[in-house]
Order: sequence, then structure tokens, then C-alpha cells
Amino acid sequence: GATLGMLGGGQLGRMFTIAARNLGYKVIVLEPDTGSPAGQLADEHIIAAYDDAEALVKLGNQCDVITTEFENIPAEVLNKLTEYCPVFPSASAVEKAQDRIVEKEFILSCGLLPVPYGVINTNSDIANAVKGITFPAILKTARFGYDGKGQQTINSVDEVEAAFKETGQVSCVLEQRIDLDCEVSVILGRNEQGETQCFPVAENIHRDGILYQTLAPARVDDNIANAAQAAAQRMADKLDYVGVMAVEFFVTKKGELLVNEMAPRTHNSGHFTLDACVTSQFEQQVRMVCGLPFGDSRLLSPVVMTNMLGDLWGSGANTQPHWDKLLENPSTKLHLYGKKEARAGRKMGHYCTLADDLTSAQQQADKIFNQLPA
Ligand code: ATP
Ligand code: MG
Ligand code: MG
Repeated sequence: GATLGMLGGGQLGRMFTIAARNLGYKVIVLEPDTGSPAGQLADEHIIAAYDDAEALVKLGNQCDVITTEFENIPAEVLNKLTEYCPVFPSASAVEKAQDRIVEKEFILSCGLLPVPYGVINTNSDIANAVKGITFPAILKTARFGYDGKGQQTINSVDEVEAAFKETGQVSCVLEQRIDLDCEVSVILGRNEQGETQCFPVAENIHRDGILYQTLAPARVDDNIANAAQAAAQRMADKLDYVGVMAVEFFVTKKGELLVNEMAPRTHNSGHFTLDACVTSQFEQQVRMVCGLPFGDSRLLSPVVMTNMLGDLWGSGANTQPHWDKLLENPSTKLHLYGKKEARAGRKMGHYCTLADDLTSAQQQADKIFNQLPA
């Protein structure tokens, strides 16, 4: 079988590795951390920085195709690797998701609506940036934010300067805080021929800026669901994307669909596909980068995916969640990421709860969640 290269060693890389090995491929992971979730399970783990020249030669020479699970792989690294083998997604697609300013301009260029925003590179930009915005707003660093990190709530124009200073004066966007009806996301696969296939639209519930649960199918009108899938597809087409990508949306109280952000990789809100779809998002990534046909992305059952963090949202203890009780539930499937050390806010694993209807799946999932701290 062929050998697949994976840039990044986190849980997304781990679940990709499992899917790839199940399909008969070898996987080589490049990841600086020893004992990483993906590195542990890979056929080979190259322990080096992503931009280590020697490591890239080693990876490039051994792989038939290379993909990524981490959106902050430098574009130069992806470009360098194309000298050895195909790299999916491309550097130019990944780059658009690495900077919120570039990303929002891209969303506008697709004829879609981003959250209303202003750009702040220096203090002198503030007056202009607040123009189209009513407070409260959210100041977000343009780069390297995840799980709500690098975000500050801003209640009035007077607070912007100090908050901007606190970021270390890196480029930021000031975003309108949206009165949300709900959040949804679309995960899709796209192949080199330009064909796409979307997974069912998922509904996401966040706590403190971190995903708590994903419900599928999303409890939204068909026209919202269809519009979200069409928007994600349009973005993927414009990027000439190959692989699996995700788009996060806000549905406003007025029923408007706004694009929050995109991820050039598999996504936490797509983990439900592991247990509730014919094909998981990870298998679809393998299929897309290897030029295989699409796997069926059909949903087989209502499902609720629940994240398990090192501190289970502020319970205080930096401990592994207690999952022994969870295993007593026959329709709940556990996925641990093999992280040795639990830390507050760190994603340690997740579980998918299946039931005949979403309401009872969510009731069961919440009940299990409440038993986890033990
Ligand atoms: P990740 O990449 O892990 O999804 P992130 O750090 O890039 O997270 P965002 O997606 O920008 O963060 O925000 C995280 C969550 O915070 C959103 O899913 C939403 O629940 C809330 N949030 C962010 N921006 C806004 C906004 N403008 N209005 C209302 N809620 C928001
Ligand atoms: Mg993000
Ligand atoms: Mg997000």
C-alpha cells in the first residue's frame, strides 16, 4: 500500500491515522511532541519542528501523498513538500484560514457574509474599525487563535485601545458580537476532479468559546441547512480545495446565515461522523487525498457528540475524565486521544451518543457528562 504523510500529531491526526491504517495505508506523522496522539499510532513518527529542513526531506522522500491536521503549518512547508509528492490541501488554501483578515476578505469574495468586523493593525485604525459595529464586540487576534483563545470582549470604544495593547499589538479584527439563534457547521470532502460531498449539517453548542456538543442533524430549517452546504461548497470550489474542510456558521436571531470561520482540515464538529455516518470525516480525508471515490456521508442515526476536557469546564481538577461509568451505556461510543497529561481546557476525548431522536440522545449525553467528574 501507499504511504501517507500527516503534518501534525494531535487527535485529528490520530483519527486520520486509524482510518488510513484500517484502509491498508502506512502513515508517517511529522510532529515535534513525543508521545503525541497521532505519533503514538503512526507507522513512523518523525519528531521535529514542522519547518525542519532535514525532516521535510525525510518525509517527502517516503510519502506518496501528504496532508495536514493543523491549520498553522507554514505555507512554505506545504510548498516545499510539493517538490516530493502531492500535498492536499494546497498551501494557498490553508493560508486563507490562517489569518482572520484574509479569511473574511475571502468570505466576501465568495459573495457570502462574514460577521461584521473592522481591522486593527495600529491604534490609528480604531476609529475606522468601530464604524460599522455596535457594542458589545469581540477583539480577536488575526492569527493563531483557537478554542476562543486570543479573544476579548469589548463593551465600548474606550476599551479597544487597552485590549489591543494587551494582544501585544498584533493585527486584530474587532467583530460584532452576534445575537445567536444557533451555530452550525458543514464538513465536506472535495476531490481533484472538483466534485464535493457534504456531511449532514451539524449544530454546535459552545461553552466558554470551546465546543461542548455537536448535534446531528442540526435543528434548523431546510433552507438554512441547504444554504450552509451551498456556501461551504462555494468556498471549497473557490479554493480549488482537495481534502476535507469545515466551515463554521452563525445563525442569527433574524434567521441570517453568517460565516464565522473555516478550517482546512477535519473538524471537532465532525466527530459525530465516526459513529453515526457510513463514512467518517477521517476516512473521507484518506479517500480524497488518495484519489479514491467518495465514501457515503449519509447519517444513519441522530447523534450527539460531547467533548471531554481536562477540567470538564471549570470543575477545577486537571484530571483525566472518569469514563468507567460511561462504558455502561450501550449506545454511547467513547474515543480517547491517548494524551498522557490532562490540562484545563485540553481536549482529552469525546463520546458519541446515538438514539432514535435527538432529544433523548442529548438527555443521555448530558447525564453521562454530569457523571464524568466522579
Ligand atoms: P476554533 O478555531 O477552536 O473553533 P476560535 O478560537 O477560532 O475557535 P471562534 O470560532 O472565533 O474561535 O469563536 C469561538 C466561539 O465563540 C464561537 O463558536 C461562538 O460560540 C463564540 N463567538 C465567537 N465570535 C462570536 C461573535 N462574533 N458573536 C457571537 N459569538 C461569537
Ligand atoms: Mg478558529
Ligand atoms: Mg471556531
